[in-house]
Amino acid sequence: MDIEIIPCLSDNYSYLIYEKTSKMVAIVDPSEFKACDNIINKYKKLDFILNTHHHADHVDGNLELKKKYNSQVIGFDGDKKRIPGIDITLNDNQEFKIGNLVFKIIFIPGHTKGHISFYFERENVIFTGDTLFSLGCGRVFEGDHRDMFKSLGKLKILPPETKIYCGHEYTKKNLDFCLKYDTENSSLADKAKSVILKIDKNLPTVPTTLQEELNTNIFLRCNDLKLKKVLNLEHSSDLEIFSKLRDLKDNF
Ligand code: ZN
Ligand code: FE
Repeated sequence: MDIEIIPCLSDNYSYLIYEKTSKMVAIVDPSEFKACDNIINKYKKLDFILNTHHHADHVDGNLELKKKYNSQVIGFDGDKKRIPGIDITLNDNQEFKIGNLVFKIIFIPGHTKGHISFYFERENVIFTGDTLFSLGCGRVFEGDHRDMFKSLGKLKILPPETKIYCGHEYTKKNLDFCLKYDTENSSLADKAKSVILKIDKNLPTVPTTLQEELNTNIFLRCNDLKLKKVLNLEHSSDLEIFSKLRDLKDNF
């Protein structure tokens, strides 16, 4: 499985997936036609379009790409009315094969009611859209804090070596937030160095790995006692910590 990162708009990432033996080409969350088409052109075909959720910055390339390449659009059944051009609707935990690649849907609401991730277990890859970012998580727009907290919980239990491809390059801002509140975390200092090196060279900070995120992403560390202490919320539940952090981040 080859994955090419396609920077789109100001800070979005679309991803091109190529699988050699079946020559299958797919794209995850085409934010815009032009930037994606420039890359797809190398392959002269696009078999599938995968959407994590319905927001414009993740689906705006759908219809034009579908028209040009006769691709099939794959999205969440519960969001079929909001995904432009949807052809194949899938449910939570459902498996689907594209070329020789098998992925599973993991339903992770919170950012939107119909947000999903595409988990390629054999390849140790997941596309998390606007739910789990490097060093952060998505804003809670349609669900509540509990939904987002539970969704992140579903991702936390995947194998730690899983590579995470998220929907935006928000890592620097997320890093600043983590550094402000997670002051006793030594792994975070190391992560900061590698993130800043990449940003300085104008390189993407994705993919990250689940292990790195478990060590450094403050939103995955709501059960950490040192962090609770720093926040002066030693007796709060993990969900309360998460809600507090999400509110602080919304105004950061
Ligand atoms: Zn979004
Ligand atoms: Fe987005």
